[in-house]
Amino acid sequence: MTRRPWNFSAGPSALPQQVLQTAAEQMQDWQGTGVSVLEMSHRGNAFMQIFEQAQIDLRRLLDLPQDYAILFGTGGAIGQNAIVPMNLMGKKAQADYIVSGSWSEKSAQQAGCYGDVRILASSGKVLEQDGKQYPAWAWFPGIADADDWQVRPDSAYLHFCSNETIGGVEFADWAALADRITAQSVGGADVPLVVDASSNILSRPLDIARTGLVYAGAQKNAGAAGLTLIIIRRDLLGRALPVCPFGFDYTKMEQAQSMYNTPPTYAIYIAGLVFRWLLEQGGVEAMEQRNRAKSRLLYNFIDQSGFYVNRVHAGFRSRMNIPFQLTADADGSLSKRFVQQAEQAGLLELKGHRSAGGMRASLYNALPLQAVQALVDFMQEFEKRYG
Ligand SMILES: *Cc1c(COP(=O)(O)O)cnc(C)c1O
Repeated sequence: MTRRPWNFSAGPSALPQQVLQTAAEQMQDWQGTGVSVLEMSHRGNAFMQIFEQAQIDLRRLLDLPQDYAILFGTGGAIGQNAIVPMNLMGKKAQADYIVSGSWSEKSAQQAGCYGDVRILASSGKVLEQDGKQYPAWAWFPGIADADDWQVRPDSAYLHFCSNETIGGVEFADWAALADRITAQSVGGADVPLVVDASSNILSRPLDIARTGLVYAGAQKNAGAAGLTLIIIRRDLLGRALPVCPFGFDYTKMEQAQSMYNTPPTYAIYIAGLVFRWLLEQGGVEAMEQRNRAKSRLLYNFIDQSGFYVNRVHAGFRSRMNIPFQLTADADGSLSKRFVQQAEQAGLLELKGHRSAGGMRASLYNALPLQAVQALVDFMQEFEKRYG
């Protein structure tokens, strides 16, 4: 296999080369059937094999208890911002949201179209509600001290984003959050957690068994765009509002085994190849070790440098998406030069999100340590030249 440039894209993002190789080999003829996966009926034997294996492998990777259903949907995480409230708010017609960055902010805004949404904490600013101040999310010293998260016992769910892809803010201790809610719940009310895990699912072990619902667009860490992974605790089925389109009603989707409408067959096939690859690599535990090493290498380099900076609170730094700025670059021209020269050096897609500026390196599963080392070497050179 020839050496390709390193792709630091935030999504759609780098895939394991082995996955691309297999997909290329099977493009015109899947395992002697004489047809491409692109041409198969979603109800035929061949595709059912692909589909069922993908489910089995994902269940194994996530160590998913039997009382959770996997749904293969469409519409992306942004679609879920509306689909979740339509499915889960029910008669309660209210939900609580943590805003830790721009993705969860979008989620909260959209949910407000379907019911009463309260933002319990926000990273953007200190919030005032009922005469009480709520702290900025990124400043929380730890979940145990988050006493100001006044989860309403009558809320249908509490939504948060476990990895803010743009801001580089990650929150992975789902169990602590679940404990926190149980501890403060009035009369044992069950407020299930709903998690947008688009950009850190499969990057480390995550406590799905402590949540009600987890969703993720596949194009960050699980394959190609077009597929949305939805993992739902079965007791939360059956609550969809009448306005919910049938094709996005979790109950109907589950009853039809994700085939109420034609599922994104090719994206499911690619995700299946990624799941296989992940299992061969040692699963999410192995990924966690790698991702820890990769992100540590980059953070350590940034932190010892006076030239680059990452401003996320140490306890919430993402292992997947690392935004960084140049400490002196008033008009942004040096950042532009950085991105251009990096590209010439075979380091792609390092431009920061348009709302954040600077640079961002996304280090999803498919990107090896070697790529991060190449980036750090480049950053060192760049600093020598312009620092
Ligand atoms: C990329 C991303 C989204 C948006 O996903 P779409 O597939 O474009 O709908 C939402 N949330 C998070 C955390 C993301 O990383």
